[in-house]
Amino acid sequence: MRTYEDSYRHKGLRKQLVDLLKQKGITDERVLAAINNIPRHFFLDSAFDKVAYEDRAFPIEADQTISQPYTVAYQSQLLDVRSFEKVLEIGTGSSYQSMVLAEMQAQVFTIERQKKLFDVGKKFELRKKYLNIKYFYGDGFEGLPTYGPFDKIIITAAAPFIPPKLIEQLKPGGKMVIPVGAGDVQQMLRLTKMPDGTIQREQFENFSFVPMLDGKNA
Ligand code: SAH
Repeated sequence: MRTYEDSYRHKGLRKQLVDLLKQKGITDERVLAAINNIPRHFFLDSAFDKVAYEDRAFPIEADQTISQPYTVAYQSQLLDVRSFEKVLEIGTGSSYQSMVLAEMQAQVFTIERQKKLFDVGKKFELRKKYLNIKYFYGDGFEGLPTYGPFDKIIITAAAPFIPPKLIEQLKPGGKMVIPVGAGDVQQMLRLTKMPDGTIQREQFENFSFVPMLDGKNA
């Protein structure tokens, strides 16, 4: 069961979470404002109400997770989203990350491979607020060729390698933020597609994501 009531207590806890993210080094005010505006407890079973604003990942349906707020903030900051940019997200999950990007005025296209999660999401009340998000059931390794190319691409699962089709779907000058690594830890990379098509690569901190898997799961 989920409950959709945003009390003063929840708002206070959210403010504390934002302060913690600042202490941890998140400086992008648009990212911090988005996190301050989104009721994270709406994404979780009411059993998690008291801990929803701790800086931790939590379980959601289909053995998946809602990412840790620090991770969401970190990736959103690296992505450097501008208003009206087309952003492709791989791994909708709870749709928390999608809504952070939507709060930042991006046009979001998000793909989930788990049918169960895709279906649960359809009933989520908060979706009505974000008409700038389009949800797709599919395999993120394929991307969305008919909707691209994209200004930005964000992968929110551990990628075993950089998916070539996603590089193809990036605009010249576009950026991809992707955690890469086959083991328990992945390194966050930011790739920039130069006007001549070559890829410039920057390396950041290590994180631990659930794996990016091949194909769709009915
Ligand atoms: N962005 C999510 C994080 C969810 S965890 C959030 O804010 O909650 C990662 C998600 O990626 C899982 O839901 C998993 O099912 C999904 N995933 C893994 N491999 C995928 C693929 N190839 N295509 C699309 N989604 C994938």
